[in-house]
Amino acid sequence: MKQVEHFDVAIIGGGPAGSSAAILLAKAGKKVVLFERSAFPRFHIGESLLPACWEIWRRLGITEKIEAEGFTIKQGINFSMFNQKPDMVLLTAEYPEYFERPYTYHVERARFDEILLDHAEECGAIIRREWSVSDVLIEDNQAIGVEAGPNNKIPTTIHSSVIIDASGRDSLIARKLGWRKPLPELNKISHFTHFKGAFRRNPSDIITFGHVIEGSVTTDIHTIEGGWIWYIPLNNDITSVGVVLDTRYSKKIGLSPQSCFENAISNSICVSDWLKEATQIMEVKTISSIGYLNEHFHGDGFLLVGDASMFVDPVFSAGVTLAMRSGVFAADAIIDGFANGGDFSANRFSQYEQSIRKPMENIFKMIYNWYRILDRKDANNIILRARQIPMLREKFITLLSGGYDKVTMEQILAAADEPTSTYLIK
Ligand SMILES: Cc1cc2nc3c(=O)[nH]c(=O)nc-3n(C[C@H](O)[C@H](O)[C@H](O)COP(=O)(O)OP(=O)(O)OC[C@H]3O[C@@H](n4cnc5c(N)ncnc54)[C@H](O)[C@@H]3O)c2cc1C
Repeated sequence: MKQVEHFDVAIIGGGPAGSSAAILLAKAGKKVVLFERSAFPRFHIGESLLPACWEIWRRLGITEKIEAEGFTIKQGINFSMFNQKPDMVLLTAEYPEYFERPYTYHVERARFDEILLDHAEECGAIIRREWSVSDVLIEDNQAIGVEAGPNNKIPTTIHSSVIIDASGRDSLIARKLGWRKPLPELNKISHFTHFKGAFRRNPSDIITFGHVIEGSVTTDIHTIEGGWIWYIPLNNDITSVGVVLDTRYSKKIGLSPQSCFENAISNSICVSDWLKEATQIMEVKTISSIGYLNEHFHGDGFLLVGDASMFVDPVFSAGVTLAMRSGVFAADAIIDGFANGGDFSANRFSQYEQSIRKPMENIFKMIYNWYRILDRKDANNIILRARQIPMLREKFITLLSGGYDKVTMEQILAAADEPTSTYLIK
């Protein structure tokens, strides 16, 4: 009879969350197996990163590999609101003291995720590529292993002391346990694609503060009827363009994804002009029911990381940074469990959940406020007022650069002289 394999840690999914956890656990000498269903490199949306990534990459020992790739440099974020000029440009370099470096990257996720996964393998993690996990084995509330096997083959049982669910929006464990909770207020749908030959601004036209890094860009956000558009310049003359719409609004229009995308673009004078000469090089892809927040992020013998725990709306480009951050925290919690006689109880893991939930609240509040501004077409909104109030600007830039534990939404509201009751919905 074939013996059941046993690992210290089994990780489901090789996106940024799973790879980050695998890197640190393997470096700590743990016997780690990671199952990734797709053949890498594989397309993934989520291309705009945040400056908060640098400290995570340093911990993962991957900074040089990321730098060597020559991804497009992002110096900040540009809001174009209600087709009104001037735009609002917020640059991390205005308050460089909060981050290791005042810039970050726009990345081709296929390549970025591959770098992380390959690094995990080099650090000693066993990577089972094109393997799917079909189930997580839970006995008396205790996770004991997974059912996994090469794609399209019969899965076998694999035991592990602890399991990390990094399966992204599939949220394998949360769905199994009925923990996945949609967020009706963030019921959005997104249509997105790539273009070649789209307009590129001269960086010195937008980056009017500090040192203009050659070839650098901003992530552009443009509000439109029913939602907003992202415009993310990448390498090789490719631009990622996506629309995020309220699901009810999108249903009311009732168009195909391609027509809905085109209709949304035509609502922005600026973006339709930028795409005038461009060629669409990919069919429009769609992700619906974007927002959810799972009830719990941990249990006896398991942790949920990245999108497997929650999905933060993409408007402030937080997803990948939060995913890597939670992978790091999960690895720390597990290493701590090994140091304490193999204690992987829910009780010990509750600290992990707290470390994720606290900064998450800031970003969620900000996102609720963003949609409130859009619903009300509020031209005197808190984002535009950061033009006149330096303290508000500083807090805002820190938050939007990924400093979720460096500033709170309450501090932002105080700087804007806003009563917290009008803004803090959740
Ligand atoms: C429309 C949209 C726009 C976005 N824009 C941004 C952005 O600009 N910036 C940003 O930072 N974030 C953005 N995001 C969010 C970002 O894409 C995610 O937050 C990020 O990819 C989460 O990483 P992860 O590792 O948790 O999951 P993923 O990157 O999704 O990785 C999960 C992996 O698990 C694998 N997997 C799943 N199930 C199984 C299984 N059963 N067995 C084996 N393997 C499995 C999958 O193949 C996948 O490779 C956006 C998201 C959306 C929907």
